[in-house]
Amino acid sequence: MTKHAYVIGCPIGHSLSPVIHNAAFAACALDVRYEAVEVTPGELADWAREARRPDVVGFNVTVPHKEAMAPLVDALDSDAGLTGAVNTVIVGPMLVGANTDAVGFRRSLAIEAGCSLRGQHVVLLGAGGAARAIALVALQDGAASLVVANRHADRAARLLHDLEAVRGASSTRAMALNDASLAEAVAGATVLVNATSVGLRSDGMPIDPALVPASGLVVDIVYNPPETALLRSASARGALTLGGLGMLVYQAAAAFKLWTGVSPPVDVMRGAAERALRETEPAKE
Ligand code: NAP
Repeated sequence: MTKHAYVIGCPIGHSLSPVIHNAAFAACALDVRYEAVEVTPGELADWAREARRPDVVGFNVTVPHKEAMAPLVDALDSDAGLTGAVNTVIVGPMLVGANTDAVGFRRSLAIEAGCSLRGQHVVLLGAGGAARAIALVALQDGAASLVVANRHADRAARLLHDLEAVRGASSTRAMALNDASLAEAVAGATVLVNATSVGLRSDGMPIDPALVPASGLVVDIVYNPPETALLRSASARGALTLGGLGMLVYQAAAAFKLWTGVSPPVDVMRGAAERALRETEPAKE
């Protein structure tokens, strides 16, 4: 019997997850079909209930449902419990919510940039579901400081409040993206991460172009286009840069392992994602 897996979100048309996972299922000779389904916020609870079927191995959850999914599952893994954000659900006798964004980000940083956030001065732009996972990595891995800057500053403050239990020795601060002191924070950062959706299929920049660092590492977890305006500008100024495709592939590989128990071929997943991205003409917002 063919099994099924899904990614749900709203909108969902541009998700690369189906090509990444279907390539891995084929490479591992597993009879699982992975599809993208548009689910509105109003449909989310019904969708989660109806996904409890023996032919469903699990599903991924993306914008804007990661936080809303947490109360709809029976149990949370450690990272999902700490972040309050679920990007992967394992369907069995129970629905188990997991968060593989944190492990995906950490692996991408280690494998592709050869570093960790230990001892780093991190400025994180954004306070949504993905930012929660990255803030968790910064605090768990011992960043020296973490500034979270978000369009709505109250959401940045809530993120840091929710992660208080893992703060360790890191100094933390929340602010608005348009706070005058963001310039000073970015100037002192050794790692700047964009986890807002600004730059997704557009030339938008999450910060004033004049603030883009000329040194250190600039990470943009937006992966479409593969080189965002932020990364182009940072690279031109001399900073090291890292795009979001690696995080996407490593979080997908971790979800695949949770559903099947099999470690998928990451190079096959990445190749499928890169081919799909090349075929997508970036649309301007
Ligand atoms: P989310 O929970 O909906 O959060 C969206 C974030 O973007 C919030 O911080 C929001 O600020 C901010 N934002 C949206 N529009 C903005 C604007 N015009 N100006 C300034 N800030 C704006 O989404 P998410 O799941 O965290 O995803 C965020 C981005 O990361 C998306 O582009 C997604 O594709 C990407 N992502 C990549 C990976 C990967 O593996 N590479 C994984 C997950 C997500 P407010 O709170 O003020 O609205």
